[in-house]
Order: sequence, then C-alpha cells, then structure tokens
Amino acid sequence: MSAPPIYALIPKQIERLSLHRFEWLRFPEPLEERFEQDISTYRTQRLWIETLIAIAFFNLFLFANHFLLHTISWKTLLVRSCLITPVALMVNVTMRVKPVPVYRELSIALAACWMCYTHLYLELGPYAMGPTYAQVGVIIVVLFTNVVMRLQFPYALAASVAMMAGDLIFLYRNNFEGSAEKIFAAMLTLCAISMTVMANYTLGRDERMGYLQRLRGEIQSAQLTVSNEELMRISTLDSLTGLANRHSFTNQYMVLWKQALTSRAPLSAVVIDIDNFKAVNDLCGHLYGDQVIKRVALLLQQALRGKQDFAARFGGEEFVVLLPGASPEVGMLVAERIRKLIEVAGTPALEEVPELPSVWATVSCGVATCWPTHTDKPDGLLEAADKALYEAKDSGRNCVCYGEAVMTYTRPHLVPTPPSIGQAPGVGHQPFA
Ligand code: GH3
Ligand code: MG
Ligand code: MG
Repeated sequence: MSAPPIYALIPKQIERLSLHRFEWLRFPEPLEERFEQDISTYRTQRLWIETLIAIAFFNLFLFANHFLLHTISWKTLLVRSCLITPVALMVNVTMRVKPVPVYRELSIALAACWMCYTHLYLELGPYAMGPTYAQVGVIIVVLFTNVVMRLQFPYALAASVAMMAGDLIFLYRNNFEGSAEKIFAAMLTLCAISMTVMANYTLGRDERMGYLQRLRGEIQSAQLTVSNEELMRISTLDSLTGLANRHSFTNQYMVLWKQALTSRAPLSAVVIDIDNFKAVNDLCGHLYGDQVIKRVALLLQQALRGKQDFAARFGGEEFVVLLPGASPEVGMLVAERIRKLIEVAGTPALEEVPELPSVWATVSCGVATCWPTHTDKPDGLLEAADKALYEAKDSGRNCVCYGEAVMTYTRPHLVPTPPSIGQAPGVGHQPFA
C-alpha cells in the first residue's frame, strides 16, 4: 500500500494535538519527514547560535571564580577550558553541517549533561562556591536546554532525568549540608526541572500545531491555484473541439485588435461555416455531426502557419480564425488552404451506416481585412467577414469570398480582385444538398 499523502494526515494530527491530554509529539512517518525537512535549517542555525552563547556563559564563570575567590584553580581552568569548551565547540560546529535529527538532538542533550556534571564535580572541590550555587547551576543548564534550545521532548525528558540523577548524587556526596537541607535542595531542583520539562512539552506541541496549520494553509492555497488554473483552462476552451471558445475569442480579438492598432499592421479574420451541416446531422446523426465538427477544428489548426494565428469555435458549426499581420491576399490564401484541406480530409469514415450515400464535408469561408484606427469599431471586421461568408454560401458553398470592411483607413490597391474565389466541388465529392 502506498504511503498516504501528507495532506490527508494533517486534520487527524491537528485533532490529536488539540486534545487536552498527553500526546506524543511525533507525526506519522511521511509527515514527520516533511516537518524535519522544513524546520531543520532554521533549527540547526538557532542551535548553532545558542550553543555559542552557552559556551560563552560557561566560560564567564572562570572570571567570576577569579574575581570572587581572587584565585583560580588549575583544575577549574582545565575542566572548563579543556574538557567542556572543546566538546561544546565540536557539537556547535556539527550544527553547521545540518546533522540528522537524532544526532542533532542527542549531541545537544549529551553536551548539556556533560556541562551539568562537570559543574557539579567542580562544586564538590575545594574552590566550590557552595551547594546553593551548584543547584542554581543545574537549574540554569536545564532551563537553557529545555526552554531556550527547546530540545525535542523525548531528549529533553531524558536529559532532565539524567541531570536530576547527577544532582542527587552530588547532594549525596556533599559533606557541607545536613540531610534536611539536602532534601530541600533536591525538591527545589526537581520542581524547577519538572517545570522546564512541562514548558518544553507545551512549546514543542505549539510548534508542531503551528507548523500543521501553516502547512495546511500552504497546501490548500497550492491546490486552489491548480484548481483555478484548471478552471481557467476549461472556461476558455470549447469542450468538443479543444479550440478556444467564444469567450476567449472575444478577449483575444481585443488583444489582437489593439496590437494591430499600435503596430499599424493589418488584421484579417476568416469566418468558416460547415456547409449543409443540418443534413449531416439528419442523415448520420448528431454524434457523427460532432465528429465532423471535431475533424474540421483539427484541420483548421493544421492549416494555420503564423505564430499568432488564432482559431476559435464561434458556435454550432461555425469557426473563426484571426490572422494578425495578414494582408487580404494572405487572408484569402489561408482561407483557401482551410477550405481545400477540409474538402480533402474533412469527412470522417462512416462505418456504422455504410448504406448511406457518400457524404462529403465542405466549408464556406468569409474573409475580411482591416488596418484598425482609433475611430473604428472592432465589430466592423467581423461583420464584413460574416457578410462575405453569406456571399460564399450564395455562390454555391465550398468557396471563399472576401468582404470589404467599412473602416476609416483601407488599402484599396491590396483588396484582391475578383472579390471571391469560388471552388467547385471536386470530382467524386458530393457536397450535402
Ligand atoms: P449552411 O450550409 O447554410 O450553413 O447550412 P447548415 O445546414 O450548415 O446550417 P444550419 O444553420 O441550417 O444548420 C446548422 C446545424 O448545425 C443545426 C444544428 O443542429 C447543428 N449543430 C450546431 N451545433 C452542433 C453540434 O455541436 N453538434 C452537432 N452534431 N450539430 C450541431
Ligand atoms: Mg452551416
Ligand atoms: Mg451556421
């Protein structure tokens, strides 16, 4: 069975961490992996700085000893600077190479215990500051580990228990205090350690809860973006043919119109209509009619060569092609290419009803070109192409006609003559009657 997607695990984990009872602070595997991946850089950077601070503070006590006791023992100097500082620095340096989580947490826990034990060991010696200071030292180390560094809960708990045990041994070996004071000191340290462990758990829980909520938000917004893109794609395409639909045609038309306006280039439009399509539906059924529409749409796209040429389904069995930069001659050429291609290949095989007479799909095309100016209405070009299409229908169908767009600026010398090029159906090709 494949691992469940991370997103599916989030709600259950949020619910689990919201319960008012103790819950282990570990996610199921794929989510835990992702959590580690996302937090590890920040965490190791933070630990790197914090271990540096801890080392600095620890060595500051050397000066404290020196100023308070006006002397310094070689033992203290050796233990602090040769036993503790190098170990702590080594742990600090490994934080720079992004260690695996177990090493990262374990090394900090061990270094903290090491600091605590050596501190207690020094406090047993002749230059000890006194048992009270020993307890305070232990509490500070635990506080720093559990609350400032926020060691992961199992490691924090284990390190706290180990430091408490070390403190108990220290109190047992200590000859300066009576048993009542020792018990009081142990209670004090136990109380402080327990509080830091509780704080550590709450901080860890809050961190994970915040992470889950953030991750859920991120995944949701990514999913929303994908859905929106898909929705945009669906809303701009015609579902039957995959061509741009009427809505996106309108948008693209305005884009190309403005482009032609600013670049003072021509814009040609070709309106294409399948001939006698009603008869196709009546004879062969709507499903076959749909196949014809799909085939025509495919051939239409194949007939276009320009990078910016744009084809759309206008509605029903009508299509429109926009040819930016195309002169009337080029517009007519492309329309004729479309007409010819559909005449040759526009009819899908009719296997289901072989007894039907041979039917052949053809199209009629109306072409118009304009050089838009600010005073022209964009509709003028399409109206002219539509009028030319009617002319093509009147001229017997399966042909291409050019329509003059009524615009402020035209280039009469470029308008092709004669204004229509009819094309008789090919031999053996029988257009629908
Ligand atoms: P003309 O040569 O003058 O264009 O004649 P025509 O029969 O093609 O034109 P008419 O407007 O009379 O008929 C168009 C037909 O196209 C009618 C309609 O049922 C059919 N039609 C429109 N959209 C679809 C479609 O998506 N699928 C199918 N199968 N038929 C469609
Ligand atoms: Mg038609
Ligand atoms: Mg029509």
